[in-house]
Amino acid sequence: MSFLRMCIEASLLIRPAYPISVPVRTVRVGKVTTVKRCWMGCLFCTLSDPVPNTPLPLTPPGIRLEVLDTLTVDWHVDRIKIRGGLSSNDPPEYWIHWIKALRERTTAVLQGFSAVEVYQWHLTSQRPILELLRQLKWAGLDRLGPGGSEMLVDRWRYAWAPYRLPIETWASIVQWAAEAGLETTGTLIVVADLPADVIHRHWARLRNTGVPHIEIKAFHGESGLAAWGRPHGWEVYEAARIARDYFPTEPLAISGLPDHPDWQQIFSALQPIHWLTTAWEVSP
Ligand code: SF4
Repeated sequence: MSFLRMCIEASLLIRPAYPISVPVRTVRVGKVTTVKRCWMGCLFCTLSDPVPNTPLPLTPPGIRLEVLDTLTVDWHVDRIKIRGGLSSNDPPEYWIHWIKALRERTTAVLQGFSAVEVYQWHLTSQRPILELLRQLKWAGLDRLGPGGSEMLVDRWRYAWAPYRLPIETWASIVQWAAEAGLETTGTLIVVADLPADVIHRHWARLRNTGVPHIEIKAFHGESGLAAWGRPHGWEVYEAARIARDYFPTEPLAISGLPDHPDWQQIFSALQPIHWLTTAWEVSP
């Protein structure tokens, strides 16, 4: 063995568990919630309405176009997440127009709506899904959101979100989104005691869909899944460590953990890491 190789191997043996100097990229996120509640009934969502699967109930208006005009938020964030859209009586054209108005205010990455919302617009407007996705892209949307979480293990998916689209339908919409030039985010909400085999199966299936962006959310414990409890930061780390087996080079976005440098440093071992931090949030 050469002297050089011995030196390298020795340095690897004594290196710290995580590279202290590697920064985690902080991503400042603005959040806009468009509706007050949603009939989809996903247990992990604070918007979830207790009367699920009722098409287009009359609900109070959310963040309407005219409200956008009055917001005094910092539009120069890195990303704006838009959630909601299922409980509105507005046609998809309204939301396409809404996205366009938002795009005129910001250069941030716009991540919004989700496959199930686009599917709902398709049902109510009878317009092809691909056409709706293309119009969202035209209006300035960059990527579809994960809709809270798309748990890709059937038993868990339907326990957490019983009215979600079948996984195959979701995956088809992801493919159409790519065809329309939209990216998609695949997410896992980590609850306390989430079994490792479920995490493995979820990431394995997500990898097969070709979703380019991965986000790992620490469950905040304020909705119907509260019985599961908030995860410890190390449980979130473990979900991210397992994700690294399936996505060796993609940035892993971490959200829902305290913005504490210790946690960021720990997660930096799994680089590249994007640390999502909420810059502002507006909701109806
Ligand atoms: S995650 Fe999305 S689809 Fe599910 S209840 Fe919340 S807003 Fe509705």
